[in-house]
Amino acid sequence: TVRTRFAPSPTGYLHVGGARTALFSYLYARKHGGQFVLRIEDTDLERSTAESVNAILEGMTWLGLDYDEGPFYQTERFDRYNQVIEELLEKGLAYRCDCPKDRLEKLRVDQMARKMKPRYDGRCRNRQVDPSEPHVIRFKNPVDGAVVVDDLIRGRVPFSNAELDDLIIRRSDGSPTYNLTVVVDDADMQITHVIRGDDHLNNTPRQINILKALGFEPPRYAHVPMILGDDGARLSKRHGAVSVIAYRDHGYLPEALLNYLVRLGWSHGDQEVFSVEQMIELFDIGDVNKAASAFNKDKLDWLNQQYLQHAEPGRIARLLSPHMGKLDIDPSTGPDLADVVKAQAARAKTLTELAEISAFCYQDFDEYDEGSAKKHLRPVAREALERLRAAFELMAFEDWTPEQLKHVVERVAEELEVNMGKIAQPLRVAVVGRAASPGIDETLMLVGKDATLRRIDKALA
Ligand code: GLU
Repeated sequence: TVRTRFAPSPTGYLHVGGARTALFSYLYARKHGGQFVLRIEDTDLERSTAESVNAILEGMTWLGLDYDEGPFYQTERFDRYNQVIEELLEKGLAYRCDCPKDRLEKLRVDQMARKMKPRYDGRCRNRQVDPSEPHVIRFKNPVDGAVVVDDLIRGRVPFSNAELDDLIIRRSDGSPTYNLTVVVDDADMQITHVIRGDDHLNNTPRQINILKALGFEPPRYAHVPMILGDDGARLSKRHGAVSVIAYRDHGYLPEALLNYLVRLGWSHGDQEVFSVEQMIELFDIGDVNKAASAFNKDKLDWLNQQYLQHAEPGRIARLLSPHMGKLDIDPSTGPDLADVVKAQAARAKTLTELAEISAFCYQDFDEYDEGSAKKHLRPVAREALERLRAAFELMAFEDWTPEQLKHVVERVAEELEVNMGKIAQPLRVAVVGRAASPGIDETLMLVGKDATLRRIDKALA
């Protein structure tokens, strides 16, 4: 059965590139009825933090990328790594190396001067190094032949063993290195498909050699191209938000972000909107583009708006509530937030924006939007507003419905012999603060009778 994994190093937030890799691994496992494993690669004790682990788990949960096994922590598996290292030593597939730093440095400088790729020269391969003295352990990489990475995205990528040196698998402080731990874990966890960023492609031939030395069957590999910013450089903080949690906090829906990420480097005809079920059905790792793709925030915004509009209003209301809170609005003090969502969702790209444009339903505003006020409120449409106010005041609370309100506004327009727009726009600016809002009847209903009268008074003052 197919088993995939996501193996982040907890040295920062879960960023969108990592999330896309996780998504691809998740989809591939689900598509094949397999398992998806989460493994935290926390062996770099200096850079790994518990905070980052939490951020990664939080991001995964928010996106709904549920894993079947894990999280496993590499720091809990040192005994196992040491066991494997001992095995390699015993079989003569690894050796102790006590080459001093200055020797290695000199070697490097000489090689660079001769325009060679720096690599360890194997001096300790056939030496007896005293295990009680400081040393590292190196893997005996095959000296000739080639390793071909048969990549599901890149195709066949050959590497000559002559270019790979004897890599350190245990540091002098006793800690195992990345290429060793990954190999042991991928083997022990019976991973069949390693889907990861293509920054690891150069590690793959080394990992395959270690796997083979240990008698393990290498998994299939798929190296996913990176995500670029709009300037063609690798996507980073410089380009704006990159952490998944930042997108949540800025008011994106998890399904919109997933939909955006799956389309980054993968397509299915010209379909843009995919539910997770459809992704599972249609996605295939082999169809991912070889070329890097650029992050396009406008497209993410467009998708988010699609999802905001079509999602169940009650759910959006629950997600919107904290964003209203950030504006110091307690939604229980005004109209049902789900009604607000129904009226407004088509106008906002994010929950943050939805909260901002809906604040008028709950709180009076301090200032009019300058452009709207200039166009519709100055000079004050005094007669219209006065007549409207008088008519509204006479309405009973139970009549304060879109139908009745529409009727009243139409009647006043008729009396004044102007078209609806002529009075609806000043009224809207008076009540909302700007010229954009849902239909005037719905707007007035959401604002309520008291606030409507109060705001008209303010405009007339
Ligand atoms: N821990 C590695 C990283 O975060 C990924 C290793 C892998 O997927 O093999 O870049």
